[in-house]
Amino acid sequence: MDQINKSNFEFRQIFDTKTCTFTYLVFDAETREGIIIDPIRENFSKNLKYIEELEIDLKYIVDTHVHADHVTSSCFFKDATGAKIVFGKITEVKCADILIKDGEELEFGSFSIRAISTPGHTEGCTSFYTEGRLFTGDTLLIRSCGRTDFQNGDPVKLYESVKKKLYLFPEDTLIYPGHDYSGRTVSTIIEEKKFNVRISINRTLKDFILIMNTLDLPTPKMIDEAVKLNLKCGCS
Ligand code: FE
Repeated sequence: MDQINKSNFEFRQIFDTKTCTFTYLVFDAETREGIIIDPIRENFSKNLKYIEELEIDLKYIVDTHVHADHVTSSCFFKDATGAKIVFGKITEVKCADILIKDGEELEFGSFSIRAISTPGHTEGCTSFYTEGRLFTGDTLLIRSCGRTDFQNGDPVKLYESVKKKLYLFPEDTLIYPGHDYSGRTVSTIIEEKKFNVRISINRTLKDFILIMNTLDLPTPKMIDEAVKLNLKCGCS
């Protein structure tokens, strides 16, 4: 009999056109246990309906960081599904059920997802790895990276997070970022090492710091409201 190598791993990428934010779903097709990553408040009803349609038994709601440009729907998902809210340890978000440390894993069905502490965009930024995929939040974007000029952002830490942690993953690892503003949906470690404009493999720390400190970006319109609400998991 032929061996059929079938994985039960399932993955969905959801895009919010207003904030150019990605939300992700990963789940086990057999047990239906799953995780949502970076859900957005405005899309809560739509995303909940989708989870119900897919018959996902939601275990965890993961926020890669305390966002400044949109509000999470973590607490709404917790109320609706009983799933646990997860933030990186360093965020010290009080409404989180789990403050996950570097290297710790969350299980869903026969799979697990691993937290990788990647400070720099914000102090508490955490990336997550499962099944050949890295969910990088705003740490590593496609051909770019998150800004480092607020929420204890630090270009030196971001440089080390990308170079000494994310770029050590196998070169065919898929990169799924927290945002994209140009219609791109996925990258790989090798692509970013070669072509990332801000932080390619050849970029020196000194040059990277200069780039990040001279971006001169406007402050996000929602920052005050968003950070305040996100520290409460999206519930006012
Ligand atoms: Fe961010």
